[in-house]
Amino acid sequence: MTIQRKVIWNALKAAGKTHPNAETIYRLAKEELPHISMGTVYRNLSDMSAKGEILRIPVMDGPDRFDWDISRHDHAVCRVCGRLFDLPAGVTYIPDRCVPKGCRLLDTQLLLQCICTECEEST
Ligand SMILES: [Zn+2]
Ligand SMILES: [Zn+2]
Repeated sequence: MTIQRKVIWNALKAAGKTHPNAETIYRLAKEELPHISMGTVYRNLSDMSAKGEILRIPVMDGPDRFDWDISRHDHAVCRVCGRLFDLPAGVTYIPDRCVPKGCRLLDTQLLLQCICTECEEST
């Protein structure tokens, strides 16, 4: 593992369960490695998610988010503040009959559109 990748992974881990975007990870990584570039962060995040080492979560409006927790789980997003919440594993079970003929299911990613209590209380 390159030093850059290690720093990026640590930054993602340090962000806990906040599911940061690339820019936030970049800011955190920069504290460790002041000369790291945004391009390096993007490239490593893409590579790591392609290899299944981290989870990339596309959200509808805004940049992709990332999770170091690669255990099988889905997410809910608050439409107001953009916070991502983990859903318990096993929420999405797709029976074989729902998979289009001629296809094999590889993965699912469910994103519930929500409003969190905090946002609801402040409106
Ligand atoms: Zn919210
Ligand atoms: Zn998650």
